[in-house]
Amino acid sequence: MNPEERADCSEVVHRIYEYLDGEMTEQDTRKIAEHLSECGPCLKEHDLDQALKALVKRACNCEPAPEALRMQIMARITTVRIELSE
Ligand SMILES: [Zn+2]
Repeated sequence: MNPEERADCSEVVHRIYEYLDGEMTEQDTRKIAEHLSECGPCLKEHDLDQALKALVKRACNCEPAPEALRMQIMARITTVRIELSE
Protein backbone atom coordinates (compact mmCIF):
# COMPACT_ATOMS: atom_id res chain seq x y z
CA MET A 1 0.00 0.00 0.00
CA ASN A 2 1.10 3.54 -0.68
CA PRO A 3 2.55 4.91 2.58
CA GLU A 4 0.80 8.21 1.99
CA GLU A 5 -2.54 6.48 2.20
CA ARG A 6 -1.82 4.98 5.58
CA ALA A 7 -2.55 6.78 8.81
CA ASP A 8 0.11 6.78 11.48
CA CYS A 9 -0.64 6.60 15.18
CA SER A 10 -0.39 10.32 15.84
CA GLU A 11 -2.77 11.10 13.00
CA VAL A 12 -5.27 8.57 14.30
CA VAL A 13 -5.17 9.97 17.82
CA HIS A 14 -5.32 13.52 16.50
CA ARG A 15 -8.33 12.90 14.31
CA ILE A 16 -10.26 10.39 16.39
CA TYR A 17 -12.97 12.90 17.18
CA GLU A 18 -13.65 13.56 13.51
CA TYR A 19 -13.70 9.85 13.01
CA LEU A 20 -16.12 9.17 15.84
CA ASP A 21 -18.31 12.04 14.77
CA GLY A 22 -18.46 10.97 11.14
CA GLU A 23 -16.98 14.25 9.91
CA MET A 24 -14.35 12.60 7.75
CA THR A 25 -14.40 11.76 4.09
CA GLU A 26 -15.01 8.14 3.27
CA GLN A 27 -11.36 7.69 2.38
CA ASP A 28 -10.12 9.13 5.66
CA THR A 29 -12.64 7.11 7.64
CA ARG A 30 -11.38 3.95 5.99
CA LYS A 31 -7.80 4.97 6.67
CA ILE A 32 -8.43 5.42 10.39
CA ALA A 33 -10.52 2.24 10.62
CA GLU A 34 -7.78 0.24 8.92
CA HIS A 35 -5.18 1.64 11.25
CA LEU A 36 -7.21 0.86 14.36
CA SER A 37 -7.84 -2.68 13.20
CA GLU A 38 -4.12 -3.23 12.57
CA CYS A 39 -2.88 -1.30 15.57
CA GLY A 40 -4.97 -2.65 18.42
CA PRO A 41 -3.33 -0.87 21.35
CA CYS A 42 -2.95 2.36 19.39
CA LEU A 43 -5.18 4.54 21.52
CA LYS A 44 -3.93 3.04 24.73
CA GLU A 45 -0.31 3.46 23.88
CA HIS A 46 -0.47 6.81 22.20
CA ASP A 47 -1.61 9.37 24.68
CA LEU A 48 -5.21 8.28 24.94
CA ASP A 49 -5.61 10.56 27.89
CA GLN A 50 -4.27 13.50 25.96
CA ALA A 51 -6.48 12.67 23.02
CA LEU A 52 -9.48 12.43 25.31
CA LYS A 53 -8.79 15.85 26.76
CA ALA A 54 -8.60 17.33 23.28
CA LEU A 55 -11.81 15.61 22.27
CA VAL A 56 -13.67 16.75 25.35
CA LYS A 57 -12.42 20.28 24.91
CA ARG A 58 -13.60 20.32 21.33
CA ALA A 59 -16.94 18.84 22.29
CA CYS A 60 -17.89 21.29 25.02
CA ASN A 61 -15.02 23.76 25.29
CA CYS A 62 -14.93 23.45 29.06
CA GLU A 63 -12.19 22.57 31.51
CA PRO A 64 -12.05 20.34 33.40
CA ALA A 65 -14.09 17.93 31.36
CA PRO A 66 -17.30 16.76 32.94
CA GLU A 67 -17.00 13.13 33.92
CA ALA A 68 -20.19 12.27 32.04
CA LEU A 69 -18.81 13.59 28.76
CA ARG A 70 -15.52 11.82 29.32
CA MET A 71 -17.34 8.55 29.93
CA GLN A 72 -19.46 9.10 26.83
CA ILE A 73 -16.42 9.58 24.62
CA MET A 74 -14.68 6.57 26.16
CA ALA A 75 -17.78 4.49 25.48
CA ARG A 76 -17.81 5.58 21.85
CA ILE A 77 -14.15 4.74 21.40
CA THR A 78 -14.72 1.35 23.01
CA THR A 79 -17.70 0.69 20.75
CA VAL A 80 -15.70 1.52 17.65
CA ARG A 81 -12.90 -0.78 18.74
CA ILE A 82 -15.27 -3.65 19.48
CA GLU A 83 -16.88 -3.24 16.09
CA LEU A 84 -13.49 -3.32 14.41
CA SER A 85 -12.25 -6.38 16.25
CA GLU A 86 -15.32 -8.48 15.51
ZN1 LIG B 1 -1.43 3.12 15.97
